[in-house]
Amino acid sequence: MSTLLIKHARIVTMDNHQREIPDGGLFVRDGFIEQVSPTGELPTSADEVLDLHNHIVLPGLVNTHHHFYQTLTRAVPAAQDANLFNWLKTLYPIWARLTPNDIFISTQTALSELAHSGCTTASDHLYLFPNGSKLDDEIAGALEIGLRIQASRGSMSLGESQGGLPPDSVVDTEESILKDSQRLIQKYHDAKPGAFVQIVLAPCSPFSVTGELMKQSASLAREYGVHLHTHLAETEDEEQFCLQRFGHRPVGYMQEVDWIGEDVWFAHAVWVNQDEIKLFAKHKCGVAHCPTSNMRLASGIAPIKQYRAAGVNVGLGVDGSASNDGSHLLAEVRQAMLLARVKEGITGYSLSNDPDRKLMTAREALWLGTRGGAAVLGRTDIGSLEKGKCADFFAIDLNRLDYAGAQHDPVSAVVFCQPQRVDYTVVGGKFVV
Ligand SMILES: [Zn+2]
Repeated sequence: MSTLLIKHARIVTMDNHQREIPDGGLFVRDGFIEQVSPTGELPTSADEVLDLHNHIVLPGLVNTHHHFYQTLTRAVPAAQDANLFNWLKTLYPIWARLTPNDIFISTQTALSELAHSGCTTASDHLYLFPNGSKLDDEIAGALEIGLRIQASRGSMSLGESQGGLPPDSVVDTEESILKDSQRLIQKYHDAKPGAFVQIVLAPCSPFSVTGELMKQSASLAREYGVHLHTHLAETEDEEQFCLQRFGHRPVGYMQEVDWIGEDVWFAHAVWVNQDEIKLFAKHKCGVAHCPTSNMRLASGIAPIKQYRAAGVNVGLGVDGSASNDGSHLLAEVRQAMLLARVKEGITGYSLSNDPDRKLMTAREALWLGTRGGAAVLGRTDIGSLEKGKCADFFAIDLNRLDYAGAQHDPVSAVVFCQPQRVDYTVVGGKFVV
């Protein structure tokens, strides 16, 4: 039994009432929150006590899409100014030389960056396993850092010789992919509240695996109750690829391979129409919105306001570090708010007399980064500061140059002002930063 008391902080709960407590705190027992309230109502002692006077405390951010291994290939000159398909073709041969130790080191690099930006749970999508590397190398790196991880067993089976995009050197046979997926679920997947490791099955994209592998992966995932993830409708090129190869738009193809449901979330989902947005809402498919990556690769702007209005779960992702080129999740919250406003602007916001048409607020962007992300990953134990939830949070000292003049609204300051490195990050009651 161990207890932790946080007091005199500005608490942002992100509960259903979006309750904020100006002088509040948390009482934590064995990694879970036992009480969230004004400081005066909290117990007065604990094994560890931290006075966070002049700090803001928010629920840990949830990253819904990343490729940790890419932290070793940032700003590669030949890929700096390429669109998605050319960017991939430039990088695949470099990634084909990754080793198990590279997977371990890049995992720790990405998770350290994420932790410094307030992230406490991260999903990662590892879809190539060159030179004997395994998802186990990533999980080992993550367990040392101490963030929660949704480790996606990605896959690519459709090499160039089969009409796919990746070179044959980075694809695997479908039989070995499914066998390894089952091994990983049995070895690591923890379905209990407070889990530190969960496994996800994640064929890379429609243009790198066959429809048969998509179907088999869905069936295996549902047998064990694990979630499914893939890239979808990221670029207009992909839409053309799917129409030519499968005779469907990307979302239609997902319906055909049984990839529609509340256990599925898609990265990007930029190129969708109104009917597809309604379909996601009806079947509770989640979306991992990666605004920086979408800007970096000139992919387009995802219709986040329309998703939200339709009731689709949306979380945020920094995406791989070869297309961001960083893992600052609080910065991604800011990008999401700003890019949603750009979209409003180019679709005629300034000409609109509609009083209901509102810009995305800082609190809404924070909601996407916390509650939205938790919902997308199918987790009810994280995303807010409430009794019974995991003690996952971060704190920022408000007394800094970057927030000068913004002290009247510290919650908005952390989104509107220059994104900061956090002062504390706590996961399951333990200090990671
Ligand atoms: Zn990605």
